[in-house]
This record gives sequence, structure tokens and C-alpha cells, in this order.
Amino acid sequence: MSARTIDGKAAAEAVRAAVAAEVARLSSAHGLVPGLAVVLVGDDPASAVYVRGKGKATIAAGMRSFEHRLPAETTQDALLALIARLNADPAVHGILVQLPVPKHIDPLAVILAIDPAKDVDGLHPMNSGRLASGLPALVPCTPLGCLHLAKSLHGSLAGLDAVVVGRSNLVGKPVAQLLLAENATVTIAHSRTRDLRAVCRRADLLVAAVGKPGMIRGDWIKPGATVIDVGINRVPTADGKGRLVGDVAFDEAVAVAGAITPVPGGVGPTTIAFLLVNTVRAACAAAGLPTPK
Ligand code: NDP
Repeated sequence: MSARTIDGKAAAEAVRAAVAAEVARLSSAHGLVPGLAVVLVGDDPASAVYVRGKGKATIAAGMRSFEHRLPAETTQDALLALIARLNADPAVHGILVQLPVPKHIDPLAVILAIDPAKDVDGLHPMNSGRLASGLPALVPCTPLGCLHLAKSLHGSLAGLDAVVVGRSNLVGKPVAQLLLAENATVTIAHSRTRDLRAVCRRADLLVAAVGKPGMIRGDWIKPGATVIDVGINRVPTADGKGRLVGDVAFDEAVAVAGAITPVPGGVGPTTIAFLLVNTVRAACAAAGLPTPK
């Protein structure tokens, strides 16, 4: 048996097309053009690639993109002052500060400075608390992508045994909250979990968000399970270029799982798609319009 490979790229394209259609409708019916501000401090090459990708996708969806590239030596006060200006700017509906920020800046201070109504990364405690309380919230984009892929495959997730490996505020915890809200039975595993293999083998739906290449082996997976691999790890190759792999040993897992997301081309592309979704949601909320689904 070989698992079905879940095409995250196609799923993301469909979401982006739906966003573009909604943006066109908002613009013609309400004169509302959602705007996303992305702030990059420093010149980390991977972050620069992400920021460029986000700007291009925002424009392709018919929205406004505001890019702010600040030098690595920018002070925390200067960054917070920029965030305050973006909070007050009615053309900006979503604000994303690309993490990580340089060491002299406290990431929590940055997260707390963003107006929760514009927090399209969903990291403000107001949004994580609302998510945990079952209230409408801006939810981190990668977890929304994971949920979208899982629901497209299963329809209902009710009653499934779901195991999430990883408990970061960015991925593990919000994925677990979303799955709980869908009535899955959720276990959150982490670096102190005892017998992780046995825990993973219980899962009908296994989400790996660890950051350790190929850590989850084929015999950790329940036959027929759905595997969502969030990990993005660069491993060395003979040609020196390196290649991207997930947290799951794909070649082993594909022989056991029922369905699996590849890396690259699985969860990754859905992240930007849901950043656009969040920006449209934030814009609608700001304009007092109903939140699109
Ligand atoms: P973090 O480093 O913040 O969190 C990693 C989590 O994995 C922690 O909760 C940690 O546990 C747990 N962990 C580490 N080692 C083990 C282990 N040996 N056994 C069990 N659990 C372990 O990472 P992120 O959540 O930010 O990201 C996870 C992965 O997802 C990374 O590869 C990242 O690149 C990728 N990613 C992909 C995105 C995308 O597709 N667009 C977006 C964001 C992330 P503990 O809490 O106990 O330390």
C-alpha cells in the first residue's frame, strides 16, 4: 500500500483563488481593499524570501501590500513606533512582523504591540486566548493550513484520535486547539513525552511540528493514518545545495500511512494562502462586514 500524497500546492492555489474573488467583491461592493503590512528587521536570507513571497501573493490577490524593511540595528523603540503607526493606519488591516527578530529585540514586546484586530499571525495572547475559549479569533496561518488539509481529506474530524507533536505557540498549540474545536480527541506530545513512538502510533491523524528531520519513522505510524508534516528542515546533500525535508521519514511513512503531506509542497504553500485569508477577515471585521468563511 502507498499513501495518498496530499497536494498542498493545489489546495493553496484554490484558497488563493477564493481570496482573490472575495477581494474583488469587497472592492466593488464596498470599496474595501484589504491591506497587509509586513515588517522585516535585518537581512536573514530565509526571512527575506518569505517576506518577498508574502508581498507577491498579497498583490496577486488584489490586496495592498506595505513592505517595511528595517536594518538589523533598528532599536526596539523604533520598531514599536512603526507598529504603532501601522496600528493607526486605516489602510492597513493586517500586520505581520517576520520572526525571528534580532536578539536585541524582545519578540513578546513586538507581539504585544500589535493591535489584536490586525494580528494576522495570530500570536497575540488575546487571539490565542480567544481561540482556546472558542471565540472568533485570528489564528496562526500554518495551523489553519493543517486544518484545511485535514478537513479536505476527512470531512469531519469528530472522534478521531489526533496527536500533535510539538507545542509551540506558532504551530503545535493552535493546531491542537483547532482540532479540539473540530471534536477530535487531541494529545499534544513534546520533548518530554515518554514513549513518543507509542503515542504517535495511536493517532488516526498525526501532526508533526518539531523541526527534526525525519524524526518520525514509518513504524511510529498507525497503518492508514493521515500524516500532516509541518517540519521544514534543510539537510546537506552531496552537491552542497542541501534539500528540504520534513519531520517525518517520508519514504518509510508513505508505505504505512493512508495519506501524507510531502515536504516541500504540503503544508508550506497553505501558510501564505491563510495569511491572505486572515487579512481579508481582519479587513471585513474592521469595516463591520460579516467575516467570510
Ligand atoms: P519550535 O522549535 O518552536 O517547537 C518545536 C516543538 O517540538 C517544541 O514544542 C519541542 O518540545 C518539540 N520537540 C523538539 N524535539 C522533540 C523531540 N525529540 N521529541 C518530541 N518533541 C520535540 O518549532 P515551530 O513549532 O516553530 O516549528 C516546527 C517545525 O515546523 C519547524 O521545522 C519549522 O521550520 C516548521 N514550520 C513550518 C511552517 C510552514 O510550513 N510554513 C511554519 C512554521 C514552522 P518542547 O516544547 O518540549 O521543547
